[in-house]
Amino acid sequence: MTDLDIELEQFQSLLDESKRAVIFTGAGISTESGIPDFRSPGGIWTRNQPIQFQDFMASETMRRETWRRKLNIDPSIRAAEPNRGHRAVEKLVRIGKVSAVITQNIDGLHQRSGVADDRIIELHGNSTYATCLDCGQRHELDEIMPQFEADETLPVCRVCDGPYVKPATISFGQSMPEAPMRDATQQTEACDLFISIGSSLVVYPAAGFPVMAKRNGARLVIVNREPTELDAIADLVLNREIGPTLGDIAGVN
Ligand code: NAD
Ligand code: ZN
Repeated sequence: MTDLDIELEQFQSLLDESKRAVIFTGAGISTESGIPDFRSPGGIWTRNQPIQFQDFMASETMRRETWRRKLNIDPSIRAAEPNRGHRAVEKLVRIGKVSAVITQNIDGLHQRSGVADDRIIELHGNSTYATCLDCGQRHELDEIMPQFEADETLPVCRVCDGPYVKPATISFGQSMPEAPMRDATQQTEACDLFISIGSSLVVYPAAGFPVMAKRNGARLVIVNREPTELDAIADLVLNREIGPTLGDIAGVN
């Protein structure tokens, strides 16, 4: 048996021994769907520094820049289809192995792969719609983008007239959404196996969940092409491609 086979067998036995696993995903699970991650070569950050929440609130110029970037990235998110990694995750949830998918992703691909909404915990929001930061009203992108594309008119809330209509993602400097943080904590504390997939594990508080799982006695498996910040505390690290690895484990194509 090769080292790779041995790793897969170890992963399989940890999964077999688990009564309640949690999956935690990052941008890496969606690169095979054509959505770039942040930190890989060619990733989004090698081209654009992120816009801080404070800057979005303070300046119309930054709000405009936010919507320009949104216009730029949106077609690739809309065009993306779930890949083998998403399908494997969906199957593990469906067969009852995995109780919840905690995701840092904002692309909605776990939902599109068929995982029920109540099994998905979005820590960083969702980029497929917008919200008014004053009153919480949801705004559909189709109501906003055509006007912005035409003459860069910034969206204004139709309910409260507020000027802070923002893609429903959590920016750096913005407070974390309460309900998802609470649900993710609950799920993490209840699991006996925590599987981190495609995350560099450098963004906090999200990366605190694998640490919390470990402290609570769960096993920790990390699947990521490159080393992560938390490899040292993991029970098993698989530096491999996500789609083929999870596809083999879950038996999906
Ligand atoms: P990250 O970019 O910091 O790390 C992604 C990791 O995935 C990298 O270490 C990379 O080596 C690995 N990777 C990429 N493709 C892989 C593959 N096919 N197989 C194996 N490993 C692969 O991502 P992060 O930890 O999720 O943190 C970035 C933040 O960016 C998150 O908060 C997230 O909200 C946001 N983000 C989301 C998306 C998305 O929704 N698809 C895309 C970009 C960024
Ligand atoms: Zn409003």
